[in-house]
Amino acid sequence: MQADTLITGATLVTMDARRRVIRDGAVAFAGDTIVAVGKAAELAGIDARTVIDGSRFLLTPGFVNAHVHVTETLIRGFVPGDLPFDETLGRWVIPLYKDHSPAEQAVAARLAVAAMLRTGTTSFIEAGTIIAFDEVMAAIAGTGIRARIGRWTEDRAWDPAADAEALTREASAALERDLAAYPQDGRRIAAWPNLIGHMTATDALWRQATALARRTGTGISAHMSPVADDAAWYLAETGRRPVEHLADLGVLGPHLNLVHMVHIDAREAALVAASGTRVTFCPDASLRSGYGAMRHGLFPEMAEAGVTIALGTDGADNHDMMRVMALMASLFRDAREDRSLFPAHAALEMATVNGARVMGLADTIGALAVGMKADVVAHDLARPEWVPLNNPVEQLVASADGRGVHSVWVDGVRVVEDQRCTLIDEAALQAEGQAMAEAILARSGLPLVSEWPVE
Ligand SMILES: [Zn+2]
Repeated sequence: MQADTLITGATLVTMDARRRVIRDGAVAFAGDTIVAVGKAAELAGIDARTVIDGSRFLLTPGFVNAHVHVTETLIRGFVPGDLPFDETLGRWVIPLYKDHSPAEQAVAARLAVAAMLRTGTTSFIEAGTIIAFDEVMAAIAGTGIRARIGRWTEDRAWDPAADAEALTREASAALERDLAAYPQDGRRIAAWPNLIGHMTATDALWRQATALARRTGTGISAHMSPVADDAAWYLAETGRRPVEHLADLGVLGPHLNLVHMVHIDAREAALVAASGTRVTFCPDASLRSGYGAMRHGLFPEMAEAGVTIALGTDGADNHDMMRVMALMASLFRDAREDRSLFPAHAALEMATVNGARVMGLADTIGALAVGMKADVVAHDLARPEWVPLNNPVEQLVASADGRGVHSVWVDGVRVVEDQRCTLIDEAALQAEGQAMAEAILARSGLPLVSEWPVE
């Protein structure tokens, strides 16, 4: 058999149907596809153009970040963390977002992608908050990552003088245009008809985006119920809780990825389970924002009911899915005083096979198996946290983090090698990002809020 790349002598956490962990294993890929996985001895006869000694590596499939805002990167650390949710978004995050030039959004997105690739994320679902859509699509295309991206889409006419029907028409038309311009068709980067969510989309837009997603085989990602405000709004306006209202509209289903879902009740959880709707939880964002997931979240109950739960990093503070996995494998144990909740292997499933399912790519990514895309992460075992190697899955989640990622392949292309992105000039990108961030903050007129004097 011929292959382009053979990595041999490695430890493999395959995430295949049997969830095999293989010591002294090997993986071979030709073009963008995995052609062989098994014991090194079984793959010894493969004639590969590049043979890599994998004895230093633990290989996993690439991680899927199922919710991330890639154009928030330039304002990281600037938005105070102690303000009410409304003020954080209304006075800080959204005005700063909307003040970014297209070039600044493109650089922010590339910085986020570099941070994800370097920590083993090979695929992501963007949160539906891109304003300079074409520029960001172009900026991401060259990085090698796999992504589903959404334009900033909302249509509720908060201003009574606004033409409500025109807002809906324009939002829907923009989604149609994006999906025509960037169709999936097996491509790495494509558009999704994502919605901001919460209470910002009208029933008409929910229905139109859903019809579009169903027609094109794409998905919709939308924020819902990080805090109790969404439920309060829906109850006041419709008499129903948010997920009940979405069920009434007929827009629930496997195409829909509802993000956060902290403040839901048992009836909403049952509707999610019955409809096959996906849920993405962002533990890091929830903890830092004080959403109350440990007190209110029904994630153990949803998992028990068979809901596909994926993980995301959300904002710009952290793009490392390995940190997110570690949180997921500990938070609910403490909150419920139940050590059986979300063990390491469950968190790893959320970051791989479940994320793949949410992306609609369950047969394509998320596992090291023959026929899957060659999205592979090599974790460097020659680091203190990996010695001794006793239990690969436990140590991957509890001991390691993204800084130990040595190399990453997407579609068989080595996009990270020896901890450096190969398709991104990181030094130039960082210099550009620093200069742009200083300019954005200077023209925002907002103060740098620091408890201690910054001289
Ligand atoms: Zn978000």
